[in-house]
Amino acid sequence: MKTLVLGGGVVGVTTAYFLAQAGHEVTLLEEKDGLGLEASAGNAGIIAPGHSFAWASPRAPAMLLRSLRGAETPIRVRLAPDPHLYLWGIRFLRECTATRARRNTLVKLRLCQYSQRVLNELVRAEGLEYEAITKGALYLYRNRAELEAGVKKMALLAEHGQKQEVLDASEVAKLDPVFEPVKTKIAGAIRDLGDSSGDSRLFTERLGALCRDRLGVTVKLGCRVAALRAGGDRIDAVVTSDGVLTADNYVLALGVGSPIVARTAGVSLPIYPAKGYSSTFPLKPGGLAPTIPGVDEQWLVGWSRLGDRLRLTSTAEFAGYDWGWTPRDFNNILRFARDVFPDAVDYDRGEYRACLRPMTPDGPPILGLGRHRNLFFNCGHGHMGWTMACGTARIVADLMNGRMPELDLEGLTPRR
Ligand SMILES: Cc1cc2nc3c(=O)[nH]c(=O)nc-3n(C[C@H](O)[C@H](O)[C@H](O)COP(=O)(O)OP(=O)(O)OC[C@H]3O[C@@H](n4cnc5c(N)ncnc54)[C@H](O)[C@@H]3O)c2cc1C
Repeated sequence: MKTLVLGGGVVGVTTAYFLAQAGHEVTLLEEKDGLGLEASAGNAGIIAPGHSFAWASPRAPAMLLRSLRGAETPIRVRLAPDPHLYLWGIRFLRECTATRARRNTLVKLRLCQYSQRVLNELVRAEGLEYEAITKGALYLYRNRAELEAGVKKMALLAEHGQKQEVLDASEVAKLDPVFEPVKTKIAGAIRDLGDSSGDSRLFTERLGALCRDRLGVTVKLGCRVAALRAGGDRIDAVVTSDGVLTADNYVLALGVGSPIVARTAGVSLPIYPAKGYSSTFPLKPGGLAPTIPGVDEQWLVGWSRLGDRLRLTSTAEFAGYDWGWTPRDFNNILRFARDVFPDAVDYDRGEYRACLRPMTPDGPPILGLGRHRNLFFNCGHGHMGWTMACGTARIVADLMNGRMPELDLEGLTPRR
């Protein structure tokens, strides 16, 4: 069976892996000159079932309103004459009830937990190294009231299988000495013991090389997908910068490019970019750097140590397909990092970029078949694509191979 996987991020490459393992003749198309160079290269690196909360929550509308009035909120919107933004925004607001937020969170959690198991099996089987740290993740709180509210909020995940411990500031500092000099600045943390971290770009690149060298996957770099060519209920071909290519099956895994390409076959996918800011700093020799990944719940800055570098990310800005950034966009990251990790890295040698999360309004990705019998979706992973990639890849491969996925797909199939 000939299969074309469109997109060479962590989602496309993991899909190519499971399909090639199942005997498909796979070709993977990627417009960049390397694999995993978009969102997969800029994320915070946290593999975090413990961070499965849906963004569309009862708190979100007020935050968006404050951002429209100019406040520096972690989730922001920039109004633009783009009908897709408004359509997506209406659907997002509809998901902001307590009932829907709970349901969407639990769908995401189930998928994240499954995906982490699949990732661990894959890594064991293939011996892949990706700067993994498996000591859990810290969700950091600055005052007692917020910590208590955090414990209440996190209880939902604990009830559904996440092992957590609540730590006061001294216990946090005992666990990770980077907090010892700054422990008066924090009230404590919730440690999710099941979370971990790793470099998703490195993972993608190494898995891509394994796919090519051991599983016979053809990787076409520098190949832009312009359109799908549909005939009735099938996709007949894809139009690319390398010409028109055909296969038996197609997988759409283009991250934020997915809805644009889907539209060429008359398919509307509710995915919109949520821009995030990502910075990477070299560790300072002899400095005190974090050894456990985490998220500061006040500034919503995520951090993780990727080998001899520290990655820090923040912000979700609904501003369309805009990869631009200014130094000001990194204010909250730098304010947090200099305050809490003052001696960790060389702050003068940062690498900065913006990248786009492919967000669905409800949160879970879109998996499986829509109205074309040979076009499989694996897109819309939002803020959790590194965590969800291996699980969703295995699910899509199972669906294509006519096998029942191990996971219940309620809430994950294409949604109108
Ligand atoms: C700031 C930030 C922090 C994040 N932190 C985390 C985290 O800590 N943990 C976590 O689990 N997730 C995190 N994420 C989310 C995660 O990075 C994404 O969900 C994930 O990378 C999505 O993977 P993808 O393969 O779908 O998309 P991408 O990595 O963007 O890959 C899509 C690929 O398709 C290619 N492409 C697009 N259009 C075309 C076209 N027309 N033709 C050919 N190729 C095309 C692109 O070049 C790209 O390589 C974060 C994201 C951001 C932005």
